[in-house]
Amino acid sequence: MNNTRSHELFTRASELLPGGVNSPVRAFKSVGGEPFFAERAQGAYLYDVDGNRYIDYVGSWGPMIAGHAHPQVLAAVAETMRHGLSFGVPNALEVTMAEAITRIVPSCEMVRMVNSGTEATLSAIRVARGATGRSRIVKFEGCYHGHGDSFLVKAGSGALTLGLPNSPGVPSALADLTLTLPYNDFDAASALFDEVGDEIAGLIIEPIVGNANCILPRDGYLQHLRELCTKYGALLIFDEVMTGFRVALGGAQQRYGIVPDLSTFGKIIGGGMPVGAYGGRRDLMSQVAPSGPIYQAGTLSGNPVAMAAGLATLELIQAPGFHDALERSTHALCDGLESAARAAGIAFHTTRAPGMFGLYFREGPVESFADALGSDTQRFNRFFHGMLERGVYLAPSAFEAGFVSSAHGEAEIAETIEAARATFATL
Ligand code: PMP
Repeated sequence: MNNTRSHELFTRASELLPGGVNSPVRAFKSVGGEPFFAERAQGAYLYDVDGNRYIDYVGSWGPMIAGHAHPQVLAAVAETMRHGLSFGVPNALEVTMAEAITRIVPSCEMVRMVNSGTEATLSAIRVARGATGRSRIVKFEGCYHGHGDSFLVKAGSGALTLGLPNSPGVPSALADLTLTLPYNDFDAASALFDEVGDEIAGLIIEPIVGNANCILPRDGYLQHLRELCTKYGALLIFDEVMTGFRVALGGAQQRYGIVPDLSTFGKIIGGGMPVGAYGGRRDLMSQVAPSGPIYQAGTLSGNPVAMAAGLATLELIQAPGFHDALERSTHALCDGLESAARAAGIAFHTTRAPGMFGLYFREGPVESFADALGSDTQRFNRFFHGMLERGVYLAPSAFEAGFVSSAHGEAEIAETIEAARATFATL
């Protein structure tokens, strides 16, 4: 596989950008080797600057649920940008977006648009602290909520991939306010709340963990957390930056029938443009400035072009049967990978939710962060490169969920399974 131009770009980039990238996991540090540079993308495919084509299971880390460069999304963006890129005064598309989110996710009675998932989560915990008058927050080991100071405590995603779950630069006075729990452990959560429940402003969770590979909640676990938060007056915050609009139209909260107090979103609602949002109960969100005293703002928040891309994407995913089809594709992919691994005698396990999956080089089940860490990452890295050479791009880390889009059809999935069969044979 020729990578001359990518190599040249990465060499130049490495002089000027930390690690050669603008976001850590892109650098291929944990899997080894060098990243390829994208030239364009279409449907399920990414094309690099050296002319290589990849079936893409990263989907820009989640936004591309309807496939890359979807004509309806591009048309909405093109039409919107004819009128200007940003106004700094309100725009009708912001209202349409707020109406769409609050209709699709009923727990969000009010919403505020921001520019990234990171902004959404750090704003949500500010609301939780401001509204409760409490300081402590609870998160889960291996969960990632962006790079806000309070969240870089036992964090997942790139922090975990690079072995840096606690970052220098986060004052211990702040980190001390973040309590961590093991995901899916009922008793640990009960014990923590029994001890300090009335000091907890909010508990934030990825309802399905997608930043420590992919871990699904045990039956009743999210309900258990809901009950604890209610009992102790702490706010339950679902970080649905990854799961929102993906695992069901109304996200994980719809799939599991839980009503959080606050939710955070990103990725899909921007259709590939930089977007985030947080929302929730009216009595909480109305405490945000300017209607209330909890301050949060953004020069480009509600950007019209980003709203247009997000609204067009939301339109596409509301087609009847969209998420059912996504679920079938995800199962077909994961079943195929598992049977190919079995045929090759390789210990391998998958976890899945509609449009999202985890790959483990170990036997199942995987229900905890400790289980996820038990995957053979060296083997994953060899698998990653074997797949890449065969034209399949998986997330370049053993600790990131993969994404399936509606553009991944039977042909792409069959080709992926064939590539896996060939790769497993080399492991
Ligand atoms: N929360 C979750 C669950 C995420 O997966 C991510 C990013 N992958 C974030 C927050 C942060 O979003 P962003 O990278 O847009 O800041």
